[in-house]
Amino acid sequence: MGISILKGDITLQHADAIVNAANSSLLGGGGVDGAIHRAGGPAILEACRDLRASRYGRGLPTGQAVATTAGRLHARWVIHTVGPVHSPDEDRSALLASCYRESLRVADELGAASIAFPAVSAGVYRWPAASAAQIAVATVRETPTEVDDVRFVLFNDEVYAAFERALG
Ligand code: ADP
Repeated sequence: MGISILKGDITLQHADAIVNAANSSLLGGGGVDGAIHRAGGPAILEACRDLRASRYGRGLPTGQAVATTAGRLHARWVIHTVGPVHSPDEDRSALLASCYRESLRVADELGAASIAFPAVSAGVYRWPAASAAQIAVATVRETPTEVDDVRFVLFNDEVYAAFERALG
């Protein structure tokens, strides 16, 4: 498995699966979530509504992942995962690691060969970039998977630099 980092907009990626840093409502939000829904079109929201109505009436729990169509994105699937809000009082890093592990598990179930991740929780959920990057890279390295192309697509310079350091 190869891990790479790229700077830019994840909605422009061509990959089997694009990961969304969703919120538990699955009904859209700001940041990368808003960008994915805008670029992918209404089919993604429609699929998310179906998931709310069937499996996730109370929302997708933090640390879990679920796939939908990717609509008009250059991908076969969007894998939605819900990162934890960073807390200064409580160590939630196991939940952030779980987002990467569960996303890879879903990707394996689907037979995805390539996956693009954003920096989950590193935006509105305030996770410090260095720690977010370290958890992301360590978890992907430790997780057995059939996915052979893992990309981190980072939107800003600070987060990109943090992933560069984490990759070593
Ligand atoms: P969270 O609520 O999990 O923190 P955000 O979307 O607010 O999710 O931020 C997660 C990361 O995604 C941040 O580093 C943010 O800069 C980045 N981001 C925002 N838009 C995009 C995009 N179009 N492509 C890739 N990353 C993005």
